[in-house]
Amino acid sequence: MTLDELKYEVAIGSRILNLTGLASGVRASMGHVSLRDPTNPNRFVVKGRGYKIDVLSRMQPEDMVVCDLDGYLIDGPPGVLQCNEVMIHASVFKARPDVNSVVHSHPPFSVMLTVLGIPIVPVVLEGLRLVRKPLPIYRHTALITSIAQGAEMARDLGDARAVHLLGHGVTTVGKTIEESVTAMAQLEYQAEMNSHACAAGGRDHARIPDDLIEEYLQWKPLAEPHFQEAVARLGPANMGGSIWKDITTRAAEEMEAAAKA
Ligand SMILES: [Zn+2]
Repeated sequence: MTLDELKYEVAIGSRILNLTGLASGVRASMGHVSLRDPTNPNRFVVKGRGYKIDVLSRMQPEDMVVCDLDGYLIDGPPGVLQCNEVMIHASVFKARPDVNSVVHSHPPFSVMLTVLGIPIVPVVLEGLRLVRKPLPIYRHTALITSIAQGAEMARDLGDARAVHLLGHGVTTVGKTIEESVTAMAQLEYQAEMNSHACAAGGRDHARIPDDLIEEYLQWKPLAEPHFQEAVARLGPANMGGSIWKDITTRAAEEMEAAAKA
């Protein structure tokens, strides 16, 4: 992947945070998505800070900046600096060689439940793997602007997929931008449903039992032999991935229309 291709992917990811409601309204300029450069793992592409209108829904590939693992700005458009919380990304990339994409946002239900000390547990299907065990919590609300703060957050993240930043936000990680963005959206969906569950069933509401999660994880598509007859006759169906394809296509359409306007 070239730097230009990485910038395109990161601009699309930034817009998806807006399209999924994770960076809209009072949080329109909050949050960032990053991608590690596969040709140089010591640098990454991320949204910067200092645009004429600094909101995620307006990002274009040429707006993105390139930084190294100490947060130094390597390249970017004139007048644009690295984002305030660049060390969230730099610190995770330094600590986790398995991670190629980091997302940080301020998802309200996840933040609220963490402040209340209410663990987020599986109550709906989407994202249940993420919340099967309690996620780690970084116990500071201050923005992460220093190397020491970033390193502490990365330590708290450990080998998890996400870490709560108490009273502030969430950081998710993945091997791909699809994994890190989807983890953020699904975690916030579970948190929203947990909030409803608390309202309906009280603080000690039920959760999906672990043995039923295990059973669910074993599911196989078209498992019956007579279903396979259709596959043999018609070829394999296009299974899965449609939600990501849809949202990346919508983000790309909007981005290209804005560039032409
Ligand atoms: Zn933040």
